[in-house]
Amino acid sequence: MTEAFTGREIWFLTGSQGLYGADTLRQVAEQSRQVADQLAGAGLPVRLVWKPVLTDAGAIRRTCLEANADDACVGLIAWMHTFSPAKMWIAGLDALRKPLLHLHTQANRDLPWASIDMDFMNLNQAAHGDREFGYVQSRLGVARKTVAGHAADPAVAERTATWARAAAARADLATLKLARFGDNMRDVAVTEGDKVEAQLRLGVSVNTYGVNDLVAAVDAAADADVTTLVKEYDQSYRLAPELRPGGERHDALRYAARIELGLRGFLKDGGFGAFTTNFEDLGGLRQLPGLAVQRLMADGYGFGGEGDWKTATLLRTLKTAATGLDGGTSFMEDYTYHLEPGRELILGAHMLEVCPSIAAATPTGEIHPLGIGGREDPVRLVFDAAPGPALVVGLADLGDRFRLVANEIEVVEPAEPLPNLPVARAVWRPRPNLRTSTEAWLTAGGPHHTVLTRALGADHLDDLAEMLRVELVLIDADTTVRRFTRELRWNQAYFRLAQGL
Ligand code: MN
Repeated sequence: MTEAFTGREIWFLTGSQGLYGADTLRQVAEQSRQVADQLAGAGLPVRLVWKPVLTDAGAIRRTCLEANADDACVGLIAWMHTFSPAKMWIAGLDALRKPLLHLHTQANRDLPWASIDMDFMNLNQAAHGDREFGYVQSRLGVARKTVAGHAADPAVAERTATWARAAAARADLATLKLARFGDNMRDVAVTEGDKVEAQLRLGVSVNTYGVNDLVAAVDAAADADVTTLVKEYDQSYRLAPELRPGGERHDALRYAARIELGLRGFLKDGGFGAFTTNFEDLGGLRQLPGLAVQRLMADGYGFGGEGDWKTATLLRTLKTAATGLDGGTSFMEDYTYHLEPGRELILGAHMLEVCPSIAAATPTGEIHPLGIGGREDPVRLVFDAAPGPALVVGLADLGDRFRLVANEIEVVEPAEPLPNLPVARAVWRPRPNLRTSTEAWLTAGGPHHTVLTRALGADHLDDLAEMLRVELVLIDADTTVRRFTRELRWNQAYFRLAQGL
């Protein structure tokens, strides 16, 4: 799962025209290769593939169609090195179905004041060539990211890398398969949604499987494999003595390992990248899957509790975008508050299922009763989330569209130990403060299930939302409830108009 970007490509396109002659076009190609190499060398997470300079409408259209058809290609970067009359780009851009980044740059950083002549001017004219390209993209309504600056500028490489992560995550989402074990929790509204619309807009295919299909896989796990996995648990976590070999609850740990083997096998065999469970529908499962879900999340699987396929989808997608970055990404739920004036905090957790990728230290493996579900006590990993800047993100279905709601937060150490709380948890201070954050979140209709990520920032979300053409509202240090409420109203009008008839 950490190899999520393997085999992915971003194509580097350069626009020009035949007017300048072979010598100039040779220099254009040479300089464009240098710019592409510079970007790739600055740490682009996805392989960059340079394409020959485009000088006519036929080649541009063919390249865009090839990009559409090539599963390896997750996005295109385009730069108009010289002047590329943009009517040549209409057919290609109109056909393009892959994310586009418009790179506005030039080969030279400095003006050669003493030597500049008209030959230099004609070779290095992205300043107006890219304006022509920007115009035609706006005229066609092409969704894209525009990045301006010299390729040696670290900000250019970083913003391009951010977009590349979003593009690779979008590609994963486009073919994502999600398995639901059971339906949504009864009577819950926000975890519902339009699965047909999700498949059309996002790509994810969401289907339900009988819980007892999973139970069959769990029961079929080989005892020897269970023993091997239990040894791995013993080496990876600080297991409670009662769970360790010889301990009086060791059988419960063996059953938790059995759940992991069955679940992992089911997901692998079916090609699933995300899944949901529902404690109301556990069939023949003896424990609610806790440890297994936590470990599968840590390996890159998306998960949502109570049948929440939207959050499972979002978690998988953000985990893919975060491939190789420091900081983890987890399923999360806003649970309860600390309302001390001036020191307000949110305590987030779930019944069991928080991903250990966000843990501050080695988790403990514990077993405790679960008040709901009516099954045997489930095994789970318990830990505090590591402190630092993070984002919480939720995905809601508003009936006529999906809306992403995000909040910039600061995960903090718990003010005091939590010796009686038997689940993994995160404590955070929302920006700009708890009152504004929660009033804005509730006004936006944001869900209680979220994804908490310490690996990604608001720019990753912005790029992803633009590619998917999904609404994103961000609550950050500058948010006021009055402006935010107006933004929601304007967005309502915009997205309804943008849908057309
Ligand atoms: Mn929940």
